[in-house]
Parts: sequence; C-alpha cells; structure tokens
Amino acid sequence: MKYVLVTGGVVSGLGKGVTASSIGVVLKACGLRVTSIKIDPYLNMDAGTMSPFEHGEVFVLDDGGEVDLDLGNYERFLDVRLTRDNNITTGKIFQSVLEKERRGDYLGKTVQVVPHITDAIKNWIETVAAIPVDGKEGPADVCVIELGGTVGDIESMPFIEALRQLLFSVEPNNFCLIHVSLIPVLGVVGEQKTKPTQHSVRELRALGLTPHFLACRSAQPLLESTRQKLSQFCHVSVGNILNIHDVPNIWHIPLLLRNQNAHEAILKHLQLMKVAKTPNLQEWTERAKIFDNLSNSVRIAMVGKYVGLTDSYLSVVKALLHACISCSLKPDIKWIAASDLEDDTANSKPEAHATAWEDLKNAACILVPGGFGDRGVKGMILAAKYARENKVPYLGICLGMQISVIEFAQNIVGWEHANSTEFDDQTPNPVVIFMPEGSKTHMGSTMRLGSRRTLFQTPDCLMAKLYHNFEYVDERHRHRYEVNPDVVSNFEERGLKFVGRDESGKRMEILELTSHPYYVGVQFHPEFKSRPGRPSPPFLGFILAAIGQLSSFLQNSQNGSL
Ligand code: GLN
Repeated sequence: MKYVLVTGGVVSGLGKGVTASSIGVVLKACGLRVTSIKIDPYLNMDAGTMSPFEHGEVFVLDDGGEVDLDLGNYERFLDVRLTRDNNITTGKIFQSVLEKERRGDYLGKTVQVVPHITDAIKNWIETVAAIPVDGKEGPADVCVIELGGTVGDIESMPFIEALRQLLFSVEPNNFCLIHVSLIPVLGVVGEQKTKPTQHSVRELRALGLTPHFLACRSAQPLLESTRQKLSQFCHVSVGNILNIHDVPNIWHIPLLLRNQNAHEAILKHLQLMKVAKTPNLQEWTERAKIFDNLSNSVRIAMVGKYVGLTDSYLSVVKALLHACISCSLKPDIKWIAASDLEDDTANSKPEAHATAWEDLKNAACILVPGGFGDRGVKGMILAAKYARENKVPYLGICLGMQISVIEFAQNIVGWEHANSTEFDDQTPNPVVIFMPEGSKTHMGSTMRLGSRRTLFQTPDCLMAKLYHNFEYVDERHRHRYEVNPDVVSNFEERGLKFVGRDESGKRMEILELTSHPYYVGVQFHPEFKSRPGRPSPPFLGFILAAIGQLSSFLQNSQNGSL
C-alpha cells in the first residue's frame, strides 16, 4: 500500500480536505485505485453528536456511519463508497484500546499512548486502507490520509507519532507527506509571506516528519521568488512546491494540480510511474469550464434552522449544484431562517419577517432540509403551506417531509393540533411518531441510520420515473421519527400519496401530492449520494420543475428508454 499523508499548518479552514481529495482525483485519473482515510483528533466517537452549527453537516455513509463532512468530499470527488472505519477519531482509538485493556489483553502491562495508542492507530490505518471502496476487488493502490486539525495541536500528537512510526516502518517510496499551508499577503501590494509556513514545517520536523511536498494556499499564484525561499527554508525541492491559488470553482483544483505536474512528482516519489498513465481529467475540465460560463440561475429558497453556516447543509448545497449544472443553471440559494417566517417574528423583528417572506415568494422553488429540535418548525410549516397552495415546487428532506405531513394534517385533514411527537408529545393527532427499528429499551442507538431500501408502490409516480427504476431505490437515512402508518389513509384519500415505502410497508419513505407540479417529501437524504455528473433524482426533478421543464424531461427520457 502506498500512503499519501496530508497535514495542515498555520490555520484551520485551508481547504485541506478539498486539497487531499483533489490529489486523489489526479491519481485516480492516472489509472490508480484510490481510497482515503480522514483522521479527526477529537474525543467524540463520531460526528453524530456534534452540532451542525459548530462543525458543519454530519455526513452519513451506507453503513450508517455518521462522519465528518470531508468524507462527503472524498465520496463525491473519488466516486467511492466509504465505511465508518474510514473516519478515525481519538474517541474510537481510545475506546478500542480501553476495551482491550478491560479484556485483559495487555497482560498486566502499563497501557500507554506510546506504544498502545500509536499501535492501535497504525493497525487501524493499515486495516482500513485495504478495504476496497470502489466496487472492485482487492485493496486500492494508494490511500490518501488526511490528518484533521493543525500540526502542533496537542490533540493530534498521538496521530503524528503513529504516522511517523508508520513512515519509518514502510519503504521510503511507499509514503509521501504533503503539508498544506498558507501563504498570506500583507497590505494592498504586499509581499507573499513564507514565515508562517516555515514555522509550521519546523514544527512538523521537530515531531520527526519532513514534508516531501508543500501545497501552498494563496490568493494569487506563487511568485518564483516565494517558491525559492520556501524551498530553501523548508527543505522541499522547488518542483515539489505545489500552489493552490484561488480559483473560480473547486473543480479547477485537480486541474491546477495536474497543470503543475503534481501527479508526476508524487508518482515518482511513490515509484508508481510505470503503472500510471497520463491523467485523463476531461470530465473535470468540461465541468469546471461549463460552470465558469453559466449565466442563468435559478433561485432556490432554503428554509432551515442552521442557515448561518452554509457547511451545515453542505451535501444539500452540492446536490443542488449537481442538479443545476445538469440543467445549465447556477444555483442562487436564498437562505431563510425558518423562525423568521413565523408570525411571532412579525412583531419582534418585523424587518427580518418581511425579508424572509419576500425571499420565499421570489424563489422558484422551496427546499426544507433535515433537522432536529423544534426551533423554526412553525416557519417551515408555513413555507410548506405556501408551496402547496401556490404550486411552487417543494422538496422536503427528512424533517422537511415530516413538516409537509404536519402541514397537510393541520390544514387539509383538519387536525388543527396535529404534530410530530418530537415537538409535542401530547398532540391529539400524532402524525409523525417515534418508530425505533431496534429495541425500545436500548437508547443511544435509536436512530435509523444508513442505507435502506424503498419500494415504489406504483410505477406511476414522479420519483420512480426520475430514478429510472420502477421497483426500488436504496438511499441513506438518519432519523428517529416517521409518518404514523395508522393515519396514512387520511392523507391518501385527499391526494397526498405515499408512493415509496420500506419492505414492511409501514415506513413511509416518499410522498407526492397529486395535482401539484412537484410537491415531494423524502424520509431519506438523497443528497449524500449525489455526484457531479450524476445528480440525485429528487434534486434534479425539483430543479426541472422550478424551470418548468419537468414534463418535457420525463417525456424525453421515457421515449429514450423505449
Ligand atoms: N428530527 C427528525 C427525526 O429524527 C428528522 C431528522 C432529520 O431531518 N435528519 O426523525
């Protein structure tokens, strides 16, 4: 196994994840099979309990792993299916060591960070690197490991030490270290400053790791003199100094690396030149160019709870992007804090209330994404009502689907106080209820997580047509509550049809409203499986409906498949 380790220096938020995945893309384009591991040096077992406000979205994998959003970048960039073990956290490592300690596996020894924790890290990396993630058999050729955080953090020390040992134990040509750093410019016509990078490389070297490559983030391309200086002070040859300067969209980054011959330098270092071919990045080139030249846009209202930080809904944003590009449009997302739509806000913050409603009314389509807790729920219900009554395309994801069911129950079925038991456990009409899959007594794993099958109840529904599969779809889930199966008939007789259900028929997975151009709710999260070039069907239908092209699209695709 060849390892490419990506570390970060100077500051966080440098786009280390995107850099690491882009390196993977370039290597994959050379014909190599690539897998990846993300290390998060925090004590949480996984990202599942972390707030999207603080940490961005929780990405969900097929196996139900709740992981860092960077794994989403890897899946999208490399088009792979990762496992929960591809995300290593300090919590997971400590738990595995402590479990062994309790079992008595250490035979009376003192259990220490070195060697026990570091050995556990090394074993984990070596085991996980060998899991195939691209649908083919046997291990990949290259494993890209991204070490989260910034070099020098106390948290990442055991990982740095374990990686140092790993590097020492494998052949030098099996390990390559790329350090991502920042080259700031001070003042308006200032100089490109190399000192922060020098310091972070020094820090890395003090810990026993010498970078083979630098990936320098900068606003403008690096000057030759900056490269020379970096090379001299950081002990990295000029040819191995890569530059990721600001580009109009992220699909340019693999191209940028290819243009700097990063692949050649990395392949040379890893002695893979013989097996690799010239990188084929045609699709990436086209996508980057198409996006740069798009002039028309479609306005999408995103009515959610965590609208302050766009990373909170990263995969939804990416899925919208994929769908829009395939319709030759740019997404123009209006973020609306759901609570701003509520009647109470009209008194407390009249301006915010007015703006929120104006934004909602000016949008071509309305999306209510997933979420937890009751903040903003009333506002989301108002948004769903507006979309239903005004025939504006609506896509409700997970919580967004539950919202449309509550809204329909309150305003069409006539159950004024209908609600989800998540928000009101005393409601006389619980239309969304807790339906644990496993044991009721065992809390802490009560979430329905990961890939589950949805069976279409009829081929005559939008979703089956959009998915080009009239039997079933497998999508990823992350929820506790579900539509109450006992009240489904009250909805169906009024036109809200549950066209997709699980194998038992009791769990409602997809709803569609008849006599509406596109009013769709999905209990799963289709955004996690959307890919550039292969947009997620519910998102594609949503955008097509927003621009009035859904029927012609369905017509054409039906003719095409005949
Ligand atoms: N809070 C809802 C539930 O647990 C929705 C979850 C979600 O949107 N991911 O069912």
